[in-house]
Amino acid sequence: MLDIDLHFGDGTTNILKPKDYVTVHNVAANRREEYLDEVRDEMENCHADIIGISAGFDNHEDDWGGTLFTGDYREIGRMVLHAARRHGGGCFGILEGGYNHQVLGRNVMALIEGLSGE
Ligand SMILES: [Zn+2]
Repeated sequence: MLDIDLHFGDGTTNILKPKDYVTVHNVAANRREEYLDEVRDEMENCHADIIGISAGFDNHEDDWGGTLFTGDYREIGRMVLHAARRHGGGCFGILEGGYNHQVLGRNVMALIEGLSGE
């Protein structure tokens, strides 16, 4: 599970962390380049056959976190897709945060485009 929401995923961690067949990674970086590097490193070293994204969009430049651009969500989707394909698996996202409704839709769409290889 890759958690890209601004806030630490307490519930997700509480439920999934004790399960030895699940890895939960909460992205901690709060500067754009470091954030994307952290996701890239995590996905390059990921051996999961199914990758879920806690898809919170509150790290967007026009939301609380002020860190990521819309295109970054597409890139994150691509990284997840490539990691899942490398192991013959799949990927999915679950919508979480995102509080600026002026940009939420296009950010969600960007992630979906990345996840679908567009
Ligand atoms: Zn959040």
